[in-house]
Amino acid sequence: MSGLTLQEIGNIEGITRERVRQILHKELSVEPYLEQIQLNRQNRPHKLTKFIKVCPKCGKIFSGRVKNPEKFTMCTECRKIERRARRTATFVCKNCGKVGTYKTYKKAPTFCSNQCKLDWLHKIVRRKSVSKG
Ligand SMILES: [Zn+2]
Ligand SMILES: [Zn+2]
Repeated sequence: MSGLTLQEIGNIEGITRERVRQILHKELSVEPYLEQIQLNRQNRPHKLTKFIKVCPKCGKIFSGRVKNPEKFTMCTECRKIERRARRTATFVCKNCGKVGTYKTYKKAPTFCSNQCKLDWLHKIVRRKSVSKG
């Protein structure tokens, strides 16, 4: 049957060309048909897309399944680090000069610890009393 055209098959069976096509589609092309459905499903833009990328920061290969793969330029680990870095900043302790970190949604601290704050205040008091006396 495979060597015949739809018209020729139709003539033999006594049915229209269109009917032959329908029968073939139903009975013989089940597998390619399912494949096509699967392809259509993958090509739907609102569906999640699979992607594999190389992280520019650590060089690790990462993959995922998201709506917008172009949004993901770094691996999950590096994104976490980046986010954390954006939320923290560094400051220098006015008393001991040590560099510390603080959360950017808070005010930048002046001293690394309460002890440094007290030490600093003591220094000021001492300096004042020295200049006085
Ligand atoms: Zn990375
Ligand atoms: Zn300090």
